[in-house]
Amino acid sequence: MKLVYTHPNIAVLVQAHSLIEQAEIECVLRNEYASGAMGELAPINAWPEVWVVNDRDFERASSIVEASQRAVEGPDWQCAQCASYSPATFDTCWQCGAERV
Ligand SMILES: [Zn+2]
Repeated sequence: MKLVYTHPNIAVLVQAHSLIEQAEIECVLRNEYASGAMGELAPINAWPEVWVVNDRDFERASSIVEASQRAVEGPDWQCAQCASYSPATFDTCWQCGAERV
């Protein structure tokens, strides 16, 4: 097991996790319920984390995450329905699935 990525915003983590999964790399989320209340950042030791199960996949998983970070443009946007923040690369709200307006 190796830690690939950690970020205070669970939405960003879930996206990284699914990108890694799409590459058929076995990975898991940790601390996914540890983040603080809405709009409040958890302490860094409680940030959600993405881990690869097999150490040999680490390099590949890291480059996938890096590439996805470069693709992020602009600030997070706020959902009109539920007020959650989603990364700029999301077209729909990660929380409730509402279209971005
Ligand atoms: Zn929403």
